[in-house]
Amino acid sequence: MKMHKGSCLCGSVVFELAGEFDSFVLCHCQHCQKDTGSAHAANLFSTSGTLTWLKGRGLVKTFQLPETQHSKSFCQNCGSSVPTHAEKLGFVVVPAGCLDTPIAKTPNAKIFMRSQTKWSKCLENVQSFEALPE
Ligand SMILES: [Zn+2]
Ligand SMILES: [Zn+2]
Repeated sequence: MKMHKGSCLCGSVVFELAGEFDSFVLCHCQHCQKDTGSAHAANLFSTSGTLTWLKGRGLVKTFQLPETQHSKSFCQNCGSSVPTHAEKLGFVVVPAGCLDTPIAKTPNAKIFMRSQTKWSKCLENVQSFEALPE
């Protein structure tokens, strides 16, 4: 069984997921833009995986946007995105950025592209630096 591990920015919340990811989706919808503060969410979905909180379960809060399927779980100390066990929908959603173990999977879909921000359409040509530029 594949073991994935992850944590939040402050380290208070630590989890593991036993199992495989079925899909890796970049969602450009407006809910995900607000939720992440960025151009899109990057979420891994697992229908068969088992999520276990190793630390800080009590700090995890899940916000469910009324009348939608959009939810977001986060560490109440640092605000980082952490996984959501969507029991009703039968899957676990893991924000890719909170994983500490590498994944082989690459994104297989970009969704809600009709909501894509204009500024995120031309990123290949942006000047790049290995670290903070001098
Ligand atoms: Zn935290
Ligand atoms: Zn979305």
